[in-house]
Amino acid sequence: MRYIEPHAHMVSRVTDDYQAMMLAGCAAVCEPAFWAGFDRSSAAGFHDYFCQLTEHEPRRAAKFGLPHFCWLCINPKESEDVGLAREVIALIPKFLERTNVLGIGEIGLNKNSRNEMAVLEMHVDLAARHNQLILVHTPHLEDKLKGTRLILDVLRADSRIKPERCLIDHVEEHTVKLVLDHGFWGGMTLYPETKCTAARAVDMIEQYSGERLWMNSACDWGVSVPLAIPHAALELRRRGHSPAAIDRLIYQNPIRFLSQCPKFKLPEENR
Ligand SMILES: [Zn+2]
Repeated sequence: MRYIEPHAHMVSRVTDDYQAMMLAGCAAVCEPAFWAGFDRSSAAGFHDYFCQLTEHEPRRAAKFGLPHFCWLCINPKESEDVGLAREVIALIPKFLERTNVLGIGEIGLNKNSRNEMAVLEMHVDLAARHNQLILVHTPHLEDKLKGTRLILDVLRADSRIKPERCLIDHVEEHTVKLVLDHGFWGGMTLYPETKCTAARAVDMIEQYSGERLWMNSACDWGVSVPLAIPHAALELRRRGHSPAAIDRLIYQNPIRFLSQCPKFKLPEENR
């Protein structure tokens, strides 16, 4: 088995997780910027986090032979303070040159507030001006459908943004069709308690074409499983999906989306 982990918050994980991912066939890990479990008190805190994502974590991953990529933004959970968000967004352009940065993310909405919307629009503008891919976080539970609609409206209202260069993450049964119908990619997050189980993800794959879908573990500081994708691959196998179809979903699909950024390259021996 080989797979790409397209969404994992490795700064929260231990070295054993890197080792287990490599043993399971992981060929690359991508880490969106997100909430760290606590609110940072200043833009300087984000500056250090961006250094961690672009310098320190890739070095740690390299010790296990795993290529590490990242996405940058101020996450929606910390976007209520528009002044702070403006300062953090101003830091991002100089980091975009760094070799492991794939785009702007995970941006989006948390509580669907007016301030979060303003910061979302700033990020979309930043991505458009710098021709960056976009990775979107959608809100939880009862806020998800409304939040997903609001996010798609913002993306579709900007003529510079191409839907095939945006991935809407944490889709569920009631949002996946909306995302795919508008030409975006969708991500299914495999969590043991909330979001999506492997069985539900496979149901969605069987119901909609898996052509613009990927799965991720989003493993972070909370209850989450770094090997969620290999576990979902076992569920696919159990339900009769061929090894070729599974490879398309967990390896080739993420590569197809991420390769739209020319910096996403795997070393020859990992292909
Ligand atoms: Zn995340």
